[in-house]
Amino acid sequence: MSKAIALYSGGLDSILAILVMLKQGVEVTALHFINNFGCAITDKSGLPSKSFPAAEKFGFKVQLIHLGDKFIDIVKNPKFGHGKNMNPCIDCKILMIKEAKEMMLKLGADFIITGEVLWQRPMSQRRDTLDVIEKEAGVRGYLLRPLSAKLLKPTIAEESGLVNRDMLYGFNGRSRKPQMALAKELGLTEYPAPAGGCLLTDPVYSQRLEDLLKYNPDPEIKDINLLKTGRHFRISEKTKIIVGRDEKDNDLIESFLSDDDIRIWVDTHGSPLVVMRGHIDEEIIKLAASICAAYSGAKKLPSVEVTIQSREGKRVITTPPADKSLIEKYRV
Ligand code: SF4
Repeated sequence: MSKAIALYSGGLDSILAILVMLKQGVEVTALHFINNFGCAITDKSGLPSKSFPAAEKFGFKVQLIHLGDKFIDIVKNPKFGHGKNMNPCIDCKILMIKEAKEMMLKLGADFIITGEVLWQRPMSQRRDTLDVIEKEAGVRGYLLRPLSAKLLKPTIAEESGLVNRDMLYGFNGRSRKPQMALAKELGLTEYPAPAGGCLLTDPVYSQRLEDLLKYNPDPEIKDINLLKTGRHFRISEKTKIIVGRDEKDNDLIESFLSDDDIRIWVDTHGSPLVVMRGHIDEEIIKLAASICAAYSGAKKLPSVEVTIQSREGKRVITTPPADKSLIEKYRV
């Protein structure tokens, strides 16, 4: 039995590519990649999922791989540039396929598959880009795209008879109708809607990330995680303030913090959780306290008691809420 390694995002195309191979009797190990920018399938609590209904239903293995710093490096400095926002899609594909190549060699698999569809995306799925990806990842001839294979040069798997090219497809373009028809034919009834879970394609998130990298080219994971939530204020080249928008934000911010972080909130009224990153001094603490007061239920009072908690303990300072112009001045 021949074996394939699949790139598995959990989306319709990646599932179909796998099902097309299973139909030909190919054993598939699917790799689901995780990074710090939310591109993975998550469970209800927002953590990377450990359950994959399609894998369970159709019988293929899924392995999770965290791309960690390798992914952060390509976001900071992609060889092939960013897309419309901070998404380095071509470098991202190359990185994932390189990882798949390592797995192919480790498991003694014969080839790699992806759910890529020619011309589906303007940047990463053009014919010339598919070639670049294959070449840069060092997998010439070993990368099969079952959904568009009939429009592409035959791969080694097809030429050697491991895969029947006649049973592959020639999908192209942005329409998803052919994929939906194929899903129906193959008994695939549940699959996620085509939406990017990748925060790097989000303009607001991308702007925050750009700001972070501009002032801190080597951010901690905590700084990257905090970009996902709250309102962000750039106080100086070295300092940022993050303000929770609601209880959910406050909880998420809290989950990223450690005992070393200074937390700020208003005890007597509904309040955001405020945290500072980077250089912190007493002036910045006072500014953060006034911003916290401005977003609290006490924002109309002339002065507000704000709690500051650090490793040294808790204290309360009294401050007027920051006015609108101050808030706008620093808002990212
Ligand atoms: S959107 Fe682009 S950068 Fe994000 S996971 Fe997909 S290919 Fe990678």
